[in-house]
Amino acid sequence: MALDARLAPLAADPGRAVVLTDFDGTLAPIVADPSTARPLPGVTDVLAGLARRFGRVAVVSGRPVAYLVDRLGPLEGVHVAGLYGLERSVGGGPVVVEPDAAKWRSVVAGAVERLRGGLPAGADVEEKGLTVTVHWRRAPALEGDVRAGVAAEAASTGLTVHDGRMSVELRPPLAVDKGSVTEAFAEGCASACFLGDDVGDLPAFAALDRLGAAGAHTVTVAVVDAESAPEVAAAADLVVEGPVGALALLVDLLEASGGVS
Ligand SMILES: [Mg+2]
Repeated sequence: MALDARLAPLAADPGRAVVLTDFDGTLAPIVADPSTARPLPGVTDVLAGLARRFGRVAVVSGRPVAYLVDRLGPLEGVHVAGLYGLERSVGGGPVVVEPDAAKWRSVVAGAVERLRGGLPAGADVEEKGLTVTVHWRRAPALEGDVRAGVAAEAASTGLTVHDGRMSVELRPPLAVDKGSVTEAFAEGCASACFLGDDVGDLPAFAALDRLGAAGAHTVTVAVVDAESAPEVAAAADLVVEGPVGALALLVDLLEASGGVS
């Protein structure tokens, strides 16, 4: 497939270009049990190829770094920002934790224990160390119970609530999100793109828009399916269909840059 013209400037000067992508719903299809999510076949090869060719390549996700490295492999040169930037690693190396976040680990552990004990069966409490996500995908009728339980935890602990796809998450109240991560990764670049599927990716889109206003060439890519929040596509420069569309875009970008996966 031909590369979309809006991405051509990245392929033309890949050494000064930054490629950033979300994981779940973007490189990995959404599945009923979030612990079983896997990247599409071909994703790891194209990320490795992009990392050899482009100035910077990073996966920016709400999952822990350990989870991402386990699913993607320790890809040489690929940066991984986990837990919305609270954890970082490069090439599968040591995990660096945002210093201000560490003290929240025990607070999150307490919330995990109370949520597991208090929510009805069918609500999936995903413990992530410095954050916790509660999913109602397997029991949609529990959305109200989950939201109420998580809101009560936020009120008593000081953790903050963030919406996701059929889920809600508690995070430490820090000024770290996909926007701050994107800003750091894209600093000084000539061009950048970000691929994402969910409202948690909107701060990254906004960060690229700011960079674009400052003179860089930026492209925000919404990865959509039937349940996508409409504001994600509305905020993006480009829309592709699901992880299959995202993977095809990355393959096109790599080939247009002269690289191989
Ligand atoms: Mg996602």
